[in-house]
Amino acid sequence: MTKQVQDQIQARRTFAIISHPDAGKTTMTEKLLFFGGAIRDAGTVKAKKTGKFATSDWMEIEKQRGISVTSSVMQFDYDDCRINILDTPGHQDFSEDTYRTLMAVDSAVMIVDAAKGIEAQTIKLFKVCRLRGIPIFTFINKLDRQGKEPLELMEELEEVLGIESYAMNWPIGMGKEFLGIYDRFNNRVEQFRTDEKERFLPLDEEGELAVDHSMKQTSYYKQALEDIMLLNEAGNDFDLEKLKNGKMTPVFFGSALTNFGVQTFLETYLQFAPTPQPRKTDAEEVINPVSEEFSGFIFKIQANMNPAHRDRIAFVRIVSGKFERGMTVTLSRTGKTFKLTQSTQFLADDRETVDVAVAGDIIGLHDTGSYQIGDTIVGGKKTFNYEKLPQFTPELFVRVTAKNVMKSKHFHKGIMQLVQEGAIQYYKTLHTEDVILGAVGQLQFEVFEHRMKNEYNVEVRMESIGNKIARWIQNESEVKESMSSPRSMLVRDRYDRYVFLFENDFAMRWFQDKNENIELFSLL
Ligand code: GDP
Repeated sequence: MTKQVQDQIQARRTFAIISHPDAGKTTMTEKLLFFGGAIRDAGTVKAKKTGKFATSDWMEIEKQRGISVTSSVMQFDYDDCRINILDTPGHQDFSEDTYRTLMAVDSAVMIVDAAKGIEAQTIKLFKVCRLRGIPIFTFINKLDRQGKEPLELMEELEEVLGIESYAMNWPIGMGKEFLGIYDRFNNRVEQFRTDEKERFLPLDEEGELAVDHSMKQTSYYKQALEDIMLLNEAGNDFDLEKLKNGKMTPVFFGSALTNFGVQTFLETYLQFAPTPQPRKTDAEEVINPVSEEFSGFIFKIQANMNPAHRDRIAFVRIVSGKFERGMTVTLSRTGKTFKLTQSTQFLADDRETVDVAVAGDIIGLHDTGSYQIGDTIVGGKKTFNYEKLPQFTPELFVRVTAKNVMKSKHFHKGIMQLVQEGAIQYYKTLHTEDVILGAVGQLQFEVFEHRMKNEYNVEVRMESIGNKIARWIQNESEVKESMSSPRSMLVRDRYDRYVFLFENDFAMRWFQDKNENIELFSLL
């Protein structure tokens, strides 16, 4: 591999932003993109404009700076780094794809609303990151509003998420009295709402403001100093090893909306964010990003919702080597070899922006049904498979039937293909073999219904059976079918394993009390 390609790989930083809806993910992403674009051409009018910018501005920035923006992958350059942000949709868009996206990144940025603290969706996404052991950076947002006390937020992080935290900076006041951040890491105070020149004030050796400033007299400044002293004495030490293994999260405070603390965050993040990481194959071989041969895996398949097209896009995380348009690759699962020419499509509309795609990058392949989630594609002669992507415990369930019983064959074929592709999870009831589908987000059912109609010509009837707690069984031989009841329904999954679908926590506890010998477990 040429030195040039190696350097390109080393410059990649690929991450996802995880947060609960409304914590500020979109705002933060916009600021990062705007910033990344604006900085390359410092001094432009746009760079000086603060606050909101119109969508049209954004499109303009896209064009000028060559930032590729799609709903799924965004790329920009900053400080000699090429940054890929992968979207993890929230709200109704939440699906297994959201979780799988976290399999394709090398680090995560967790955004927390200072007034709300750690919320449900953040916990779920955090857990997936934690299991992968990837570094997690925390940005506590909306300091321009009154929120929880910073010490309380740090405690919550540690208690709710069970991760050590290290405050890289600390707010001085908040809400209407937000004066800025005390930046422990860069030894300075960054002032809120001042112009560029006065933004940074240096600290002296004692860690106090080195210059005369009115802030010094405020109770907020004094409080911040006290908190910092407490952190210095009783808090965790900064530990790079722990950060790298996802055991400690560096915490930043700021306000994405007012673009405060975002640059400091970005610059510090880039100092510590991992470059593209090696990845294991299912034969435990480790593939290095700078190895000669191109390889990657599919972590997401996005169905085009346009009824006139059946196109889908398969998202590939490049793990090693360099991708070039027109190259020949092999799909390891089938052994089929083909050229990625017409079928290849970069995500950016402006193809110029991505003339090279290397390890760390994401490319979109035009898919007419050849790919499944988890597939490995390789450029070399030797084929292999990357480790399987995990299956996630679904929470929503529907009972599904074909509206027209004559279509039963197509119905089953469609379901099986969509299940294999990873779009939805399949279960069946014990004797009647009714089909039950499981998902982590409502959107998956909608996509399922749509694709069944458009791709398999089958209209389906879906009857919600609501939220359930799904648990697999360690010692299956102990299970008796008589244990099944409406509140703890026993079904089988696509691999014929038994699964209990409990109505709620209470039903699960009740079941465990009655059947102490049954060892339940959940997937991720
Ligand atoms: P997402 O759902 O996580 O993508 O959140 P958004 O970025 O859409 O933000 C949700 C709301 O919070 C919007 O109304 C934002 O304008 C607002 N918001 C985001 N960041 C801040 C901030 O730093 N301060 C304040 N006051 N509001 C913010």
